[in-house]
Amino acid sequence: MSANPTVLPAKATHQQTRTFNQQLVLRALHDHSPLSRADLARLTGLTRTSVSHLVSSLIEDGLIEEVGRGRSSGGKSPILLRVAPDGRHLIGLDLGEALFSGAIVNLRGEILRSIHLPLEGRNGDAAVELVFELVDALRADDLSRVLGIGIGAPGIIDTSTGTVRWSVNLSWAELRLGPLLEQRYGVPVVVANDSHAAALAELTFFRRPRPNNLIVIKVGRGVGAGIILNGQLFQGDGHGAGEFGHISLGSADAMCRCGREGCLETRTSMRALVDAAGAVEPSITDEGALVAAFLAGVTSIRRIVLDAARELGVAVGWLIGVLNVRHVLLVGPVAELGDEWLGEVRRYARSSVLALLARDTQIEFGHVHDDVVELGASALLMEQQLGLGLIR
Ligand SMILES: [Zn+2]
Repeated sequence: MSANPTVLPAKATHQQTRTFNQQLVLRALHDHSPLSRADLARLTGLTRTSVSHLVSSLIEDGLIEEVGRGRSSGGKSPILLRVAPDGRHLIGLDLGEALFSGAIVNLRGEILRSIHLPLEGRNGDAAVELVFELVDALRADDLSRVLGIGIGAPGIIDTSTGTVRWSVNLSWAELRLGPLLEQRYGVPVVVANDSHAAALAELTFFRRPRPNNLIVIKVGRGVGAGIILNGQLFQGDGHGAGEFGHISLGSADAMCRCGREGCLETRTSMRALVDAAGAVEPSITDEGALVAAFLAGVTSIRRIVLDAARELGVAVGWLIGVLNVRHVLLVGPVAELGDEWLGEVRRYARSSVLALLARDTQIEFGHVHDDVVELGASALLMEQQLGLGLIR
């Protein structure tokens, strides 16, 4: 393995070198715990003396901990180390669904507490107020260990400045959400697209060994993909990589909230399915009722859901054809529709791409669905603050 997440500047200061080396140690432990000090020296290429100093200061800082002794290879059995799961806590927010959700997450990606607040049609400044409410409620806990706030939001997000450039669902344009929260709460804040965050959650917490390439498609209120290439999140030149929910399929039908017609999202998102189902079965007004009708085998609803699955499948096939990524995961509220929906997506994805590529590609549900964006937003913050090397 290589534990070389970023490149150290040629004329690094002593402090830069130390931070860089600390990050090497943290990343090795994050990926391969538990490890001895000798393992760490071997994996990072640092001297045993350096490792020893770095480990002492990281233990003092509460970020790593000793977890007993490993097997001896002759001499004294070595002490094993790991990242301390509760060494820091993170606040992760998901602003992508009809409920705004927030969670306190530890360094192992375990959710310690979560809160959901209904959006109820709010947008613009009122939606920002709801974000404050969410963070205020989560901050009622002990904040001494909170590393910062990570946010997954729908739309085009400039992660480098924390700016929501355009979020059609929330009527936000050029909203400096990151700086706004940093000012209010006095902790580091990082903001990313919600599908990008979902991809980081899978990459950071659930995939071992970590795949080089991965596509995570989130289907909920919207449809979007997070694309991991060469082990890192690929955001595109303008942070819009994976926005395939707003590729227009041409036929002029429902108007999309983005202002165009025929977007994939207007035909295959959970919101689109609820709307289409409600038009034939007026009792269906939310995702729960849609899923129940589909699973109960209501013929008209089955047709709506499976037609959409086929359409999404073809679009997934395009992604596979363009990128030849072998692992494709579907996450989000859509997972409630279960294996029949997934099977139809898989079948149409495979039939719309070269047989050789299709044969090698796995299309599955991801590990988590409800909290995937909160976890991913937390992973993003860990990346930013601890340097795990996941984003270029
Ligand atoms: Zn659109």
